Amino acid sequence: MDKIDRYADELKRMRDESLYRTMNVIESAQSSNITIDGKDYVLFASNSYLDLCNDDYVKECAQRALNMYGTGSGGSRLTTGTTALHDELERRLALLKKRESAIVFDTGYMTNVGVISSITSEGDIIFSDELNHASIIDGCRLSKAELVIYRHNDMEDLEEKLRLYRGKHGLIVSDGVFSMDGDIVNLPRLVRLADEYGKLSMIDEAHATGVLGSNGLGTEEYYGIEGAADIVMGTLSKAVGSEGGFVCADNTIVSYLRNKARSFIFSTSLSPVTIASAIAGLDCITAERVAALRDNVRYLCDRLNEAGVNVKSDSAIIPVIIGDEQKALDISAELMKQGYYVSAIRYPTVKKNSARLRITLMSSHTKEEIRGLADLIGRYCK
Ligand code: PMP
Repeated sequence: MDKIDRYADELKRMRDESLYRTMNVIESAQSSNITIDGKDYVLFASNSYLDLCNDDYVKECAQRALNMYGTGSGGSRLTTGTTALHDELERRLALLKKRESAIVFDTGYMTNVGVISSITSEGDIIFSDELNHASIIDGCRLSKAELVIYRHNDMEDLEEKLRLYRGKHGLIVSDGVFSMDGDIVNLPRLVRLADEYGKLSMIDEAHATGVLGSNGLGTEEYYGIEGAADIVMGTLSKAVGSEGGFVCADNTIVSYLRNKARSFIFSTSLSPVTIASAIAGLDCITAERVAALRDNVRYLCDRLNEAGVNVKSDSAIIPVIIGDEQKALDISAELMKQGYYVSAIRYPTVKKNSARLRITLMSSHTKEEIRGLADLIGRYCK
């Protein structure tokens, strides 16, 4: 048998099960309207919730940084890769999340992997929601701690499991907004349980920063419990419109991460241009933009419910559950034909037979664009 046959066999199996993945090549900036292969689409699949990737002010700031600092950062953060911009971004993030300190990683994925594997050790326990993002799962896999999975956002189940591990050091970790379902963690209860059972609490604010709370500060603002979690992790790659990941916490945790998190220490730091875009993106997270996004979410949910498609969301992610993988792909392809880009999400990102259209909104979508999408989905999903 040829050395690569097994990979070809696996790819064939994926094709047969409608799980094979391909990429669309976008020929324009990431915004609410994009071009693919010369054809225009309204984009309802991006995580750029506040439409900042192509914002004039953000681009001006990025250009200024490009002229001053050049392109690459030339080293890891602990060698030559920390510019005044990196320092400024960390100060801004700590202020935003009302914490003593912040630390920026190259991506959100690297943040979760680096943080979870470094703050837990052999003999510790990690309690993780069953629907947590893959980067949290991989952080748990890299850690030497024991892993306990609790039912999705089920605080009764979490408490039952916490009772079994009293006295052990550990971490409870959860998405703030769940990336494929768009629902929100029961943070007040999670934090109370963490304190009661002496565990660290950590939330992943990838889809909450710039989205939840009147000022877009995230899940803690949504519940009015700012400063409650021990560790707030987030990404700069979604509402902020740039790239990178971060942690906000007290000085001790952040200093510990600077010294111990391998994905922070052993990788070249982000380009100053990316960092400048992130700082400018933070400037643009205003109550007005966040309110416009929320208004669009409400509008789409109302239109879909009217069209007989049951949905509910307080975040910018609205899943329409289809079930069958091929059917989800077919509906997504139909929507593409009509000029609407909506991703079909399948296993292993979600459980088998729970394939879905994952609609994401931007603050800049027009009501007409949203209505057009809702009408089509109503027609295809009945
Ligand atoms: N956490 C969650 C909940 C996410 O959805 C994602 C990205 N999809 C990440 C972390 C990783 O972030 P990044 O894309 O910046 O690596």
